[in-house]
Amino acid sequence: MSNLDRTPALSSCGGLTEVAPRPVHQVYAGKEVALGESTVVRRLLPNLGRRLVGPWCFVDHYGPDDIATGDGMQVPPHPHIGLQTVSWLLDGEVHHRDSLGSDQVIRPGQLGLMTAGRAITHAEQSPVPHPALLHGVQLWVALPDAARGVAPAWQHETALPVLRDRGATATVILGSLVGERSPAKTYSPSVGIDVALDAGSDLLLPLEPDFEHAVLVMSGSVDVDGAALTPGAMIYLGCARRGLRLASTDGARVLLLGGAPFEEQIVMWWNFVGRSNDEIAAARREWMASERFGDVAGYDGFRLPAPELPAGRLKPGGATR
Ligand code: MN
Repeated sequence: MSNLDRTPALSSCGGLTEVAPRPVHQVYAGKEVALGESTVVRRLLPNLGRRLVGPWCFVDHYGPDDIATGDGMQVPPHPHIGLQTVSWLLDGEVHHRDSLGSDQVIRPGQLGLMTAGRAITHAEQSPVPHPALLHGVQLWVALPDAARGVAPAWQHETALPVLRDRGATATVILGSLVGERSPAKTYSPSVGIDVALDAGSDLLLPLEPDFEHAVLVMSGSVDVDGAALTPGAMIYLGCARRGLRLASTDGARVLLLGGAPFEEQIVMWWNFVGRSNDEIAAARREWMASERFGDVAGYDGFRLPAPELPAGRLKPGGATR
């Protein structure tokens, strides 16, 4: 998925300024953002006062939308650098194609993990025909400095570890849970778990105390460590937790995101994660000049043009807001 905002802000984050070293409750609402002409997403990260959870730097939640009579998701070819994208669906299908030649339909329960590394181009579309419902999340993971120049890669996993306990089903998308490890290639300590809570379930999810964590509610209503939350909300939980109580009267579906606090200062603009204004400007220039970034073979249409860069320069290590 692309950040299709035509006036994206240039922002710096990281450097631990927003990390809560102890357990906290900070509840965030998503900001509605149009993704092309037919999809509206709720953006939870970046958010006011919260730009990172571990290395997770971008969280979009979309649907459930009835796209039976429409085109559904239509994101033309666009570039990325310095990050990994995680595609995760609850309903529907997304057709991913990229400049490596990857051509994959992603379905619920399957992980689509794209490592942009030094440069990649991809397009995402609802296939034709497609299921009536579309519901999912698009997430970005910032790559640490030592890994952000790696070769681009695509990983599609259809058999992630699944654990059952006390009326809950946990799927290990990224990282590990009680010794069950996702095959997802990661570059910094991090975790991503889908938890489906049956009606009446009540469990304690073990957590890594060195990580900071957040929970996104994707459907249903849930009690997260005593906080009652409804779909579309995200709660930031801070660090130093060994477990997290999740309970649901009527059933719910949540996403746990976490990781070691990301110490490096990053600069995010449009679809790029870098370390300096100049680096972002160079990536934009190269995309617009059809340099560095490849093409998506077989895509019938135009590439997504980059917005104008905002005036002014961002100092490395600048204010987070
Ligand atoms: Mn994208």
